[in-house]
Amino acid sequence: MHRLFFALGFMFFGVFYGFAHADTGKFARITNVRFGENGAATRVVIDANTPIDYDYFILSNGARRIVLDMPRLRWSIDGLTSESGGGDGFGHVVQYRYGHNSPTTSRLVLDLESPADVVNAFRLKPKGDRKSHRIVLDLKSVSVKKFEAKANAEDKKRQKAVVNHKRRKPLIFIDAGHGGKDPGAIGVSKTQEKDIALAAALELRRALLATKRYDVAMTRDTDVFIELEDRVKIARSYDVDLFISLHADAGKKSVTRGASVYTLSASGEQRSDRLKNSNNWVLDIEKDDDRSEEVTAILVDLVKRETKSRSAEFAELLIPSITKQKWPTLRNTHRKAGFFVLLAPDVPAVLFEMGFMTNPSDEAILTSPRKRKKLIRGIVDAVNVFFADQEFYVAQR
Ligand SMILES: [Zn+2]
Repeated sequence: MHRLFFALGFMFFGVFYGFAHADTGKFARITNVRFGENGAATRVVIDANTPIDYDYFILSNGARRIVLDMPRLRWSIDGLTSESGGGDGFGHVVQYRYGHNSPTTSRLVLDLESPADVVNAFRLKPKGDRKSHRIVLDLKSVSVKKFEAKANAEDKKRQKAVVNHKRRKPLIFIDAGHGGKDPGAIGVSKTQEKDIALAAALELRRALLATKRYDVAMTRDTDVFIELEDRVKIARSYDVDLFISLHADAGKKSVTRGASVYTLSASGEQRSDRLKNSNNWVLDIEKDDDRSEEVTAILVDLVKRETKSRSAEFAELLIPSITKQKWPTLRNTHRKAGFFVLLAPDVPAVLFEMGFMTNPSDEAILTSPRKRKKLIRGIVDAVNVFFADQEFYVAQR
């Protein structure tokens, strides 16, 4: 039933049951960042759809900045243009940038033209014409000496607090195929692909967590139906380092057996471009409005190449790794396809067909938790090699 996984498949499913884990809707949305003048102060207003907790500090490392840390958000500001605050551009602020600096936090950085400190910081609820929740900061000029002294003091405090958080574990995202009303392929003895995918996904999560080297997130950890489009969206809402979608195949001939792994094909890549344009999938590097369009296009292309080669790299590790565990594989087993779940442009992703439900021997090992241990072992070994010698850090301030 993999044809269900081709791009248009999702259109045939009507109902959406919600996620087993954090969904994109759970994140608050920032809808605008505005600048204006409030007497001598520069007023920064951040519009959002819900009240947002925030913390800020001033930063001096050559450039002078004010940094706002917030829980993980979704930025849905049209482009990066902003209302000008009149006077000299944004008053004290030359430009601003934002990004996700960990799976759980977002950050807005204000680059200052001259030393300034926050004199007022408060939140406003929707009122009258203003339908948004707002964070308001007023910035006022301070002397260089005062700015540097405060930045230094805050830096020392922060160093102490963050020293243990700087390094992070790679985040592996497991997508158990099908689920709920979509059973996937049906096995020779009527077993359902969705159940095997889920069982293997849960075992893989357990095994990866047991290494203490990874964080793991899943699209589903129960028998629920999730749209393909939403699987990608959920993964993209995290800073995922590797996306693994687990499936079991169905073949025309019952003799066909063995596992195979898919990465994104060239036609899928074009589809990814189209989807990216229609779904607001903005790569992080596309958000920096400092760069010319040409430079941005080159960088986007580089990220995609990097993602593609990283996906292929994992696929090439996975096959020998499960073969080593004596798990059967198909010939020519690294294939390329345009499966929907592989289409996020900046997440290394593979779709792993663990075997054929339509082959009695494959079905027997796929349904046996004891036999599956070998398969899981093979996947974990491949993940270990893939991430060996790589360190992951939360974004530098
Ligand atoms: Zn499937």
